Amino acid sequence: MPFSLHGIGVSRGYAIGRTYLLQRNQPEITEYTIPDVIVEDEVERFLNGLRLARKQLQDIRARIPVTAASDITAFIDTHLLMLEDVSFTEAPANLIRSRKCNAEWALKIQRDTLVQVFEDMDDPYLRTRKDDVEHVVRRVQRILVTDDPAFLSDTGFSELTASRLEGRIVVADDLTPADTILMQHQGVLAFVTEYGGPLSHTAILARSLGIPAVVGARNARAYLGNNEPAIVDGRQGVVLVSLDERILRYYRHKQQEERRQQRELNKLKGKPAVTRDNITIRLQANIELPEDAVTVRDVAADGIGLYRTEFMFMNRSDVPDEEEHLASYLHVINILEGNSVTIRTADLGADKQVDGGRAGPVGTNPALGLRAIRMCLKDLAMFRPQLRAILRASAYGSVRMMIPMLSTIQEVSQVLRLVAETKQELRKRGLAFDDNMPVGGMIEIPAAAVCAAQFARYLGFLSIGTNDLIQYTLAIDRVDDEVNYLYDPLHPAVLTLIRYTIRAGHRAGIPVSLCGEMAGDPRYTRLLLGLGLTQFSMHPAGLLEIKRVIQDSHVGELTKAVQRLLRTTDAEKYTELLKDIAQN
Ligand code: PEP
Ligand code: MG
Repeated sequence: MPFSLHGIGVSRGYAIGRTYLLQRNQPEITEYTIPDVIVEDEVERFLNGLRLARKQLQDIRARIPVTAASDITAFIDTHLLMLEDVSFTEAPANLIRSRKCNAEWALKIQRDTLVQVFEDMDDPYLRTRKDDVEHVVRRVQRILVTDDPAFLSDTGFSELTASRLEGRIVVADDLTPADTILMQHQGVLAFVTEYGGPLSHTAILARSLGIPAVVGARNARAYLGNNEPAIVDGRQGVVLVSLDERILRYYRHKQQEERRQQRELNKLKGKPAVTRDNITIRLQANIELPEDAVTVRDVAADGIGLYRTEFMFMNRSDVPDEEEHLASYLHVINILEGNSVTIRTADLGADKQVDGGRAGPVGTNPALGLRAIRMCLKDLAMFRPQLRAILRASAYGSVRMMIPMLSTIQEVSQVLRLVAETKQELRKRGLAFDDNMPVGGMIEIPAAAVCAAQFARYLGFLSIGTNDLIQYTLAIDRVDDEVNYLYDPLHPAVLTLIRYTIRAGHRAGIPVSLCGEMAGDPRYTRLLLGLGLTQFSMHPAGLLEIKRVIQDSHVGELTKAVQRLLRTTDAEKYTELLKDIAQN
């Protein structure tokens, strides 16, 4: 009888193979007090441990291939930064001096303090960062208690172990970024972890590596045997063992079907996204880091509709300067070979906090606080270098600048004034820029959507940020698991605001695109077409599937269906009409 274990499916796909159970190698810690005379020696032993830990991580970092997902490097950099932070360097050293405790113990005390700080945080993403503290502390403790260089990985497996993972389903309590790097060229089929949620390292990395993954499968290692045949269904979040021939046949069929669909989708690369009634739709990509531009080119997107530059500000204690901004933008422009790049000015704050407290104290309601353009207009020393770099980049390619989280026309005027001043400055410095570079804005606050016609008079284009528009319209924090069930892209208020914005833009004769997650979700494609959308911007991995749906749709019919939908006041009828549109 097949036996199934349930967790959260965080990376789609199916894997059929044998398990490899990773048992975490916990360092044995002893706690003792030390005599006064050797306190400074103990501090030195601790600092040596830190140095070695940094060296290990730098070695691991150097091995990351340039083609690796950018997330991987970012995670290692976070651990390296932590090892430089006073809370990891000075605080434990002070504990050794004041409490006369040994180095391993001092680290344990400091770890408990830091973990508590993270656990008390409201933001679920930041709460998961306590794992980083655990991983870093464990690494240093392991170095302090053993001289064995084989203990390079966080889980305690050596490279020799890693090389045995080919074709295996890795089952662990949790995986760290360093572990994942050691594993990434070993042909791992899937990840199953006992802990973690959709925002955990394993989830993020598995998605970037394209490997199926199930997280939060509690006690998986107690129920699964090592080297046991298993199936991982990353879509449903299920792990199956004690397989019989019927189950195997079913999943082999699903795997084949998935591969066949991908091959079919690949044929759409370079083909136009034209509907059955001959309307051409522009499909653009969203990126977070310059390195992501390669994937945009791979799926032959019509340029970049959203470049989230705030990621450049993360995992560091300083602010990028003009030259660094420029280098990143030029990197993207060169890869895009003439296609347009929409650079969004830093959208910092709320769930995208930065190090060094630059974002200021986090208010009680960060999503409603000093965020995005509000923060940039307040911190011009941070904003001006970015403006100069965007303008300078416009001399080298088709660049558009986009302002996030607009709520008033005054914010637009302020930005336009700053752009004009920056142009003057560049002229004086003899630096080239495109005087006609379009400046557009994101419509992601209901107030801006309602006043979209006014915004359209001053801006070169509009882009609807549904991730935020939904959270602000429905008063639902997008990162709060407790109210996730209310987060509804199909709420009539949301659809009305989207339609209103599209109409306002088109009446003013400016392009309107939509760059929230809705744009990359095939369940909403027909609905958005019916609302009049002609430009979508999404994660590159989903672009070909959206193109397939578009080629199969008839905008004329969908427009009428959506008109009927938005006229109805009957909730049941509304659901029925939505279903019809999705299947139309
Ligand atoms: C959005 O809000 O829809 C959006 C695209 O911006 P972000 O997700 O970066 O806030
Ligand atoms: Mg947004």
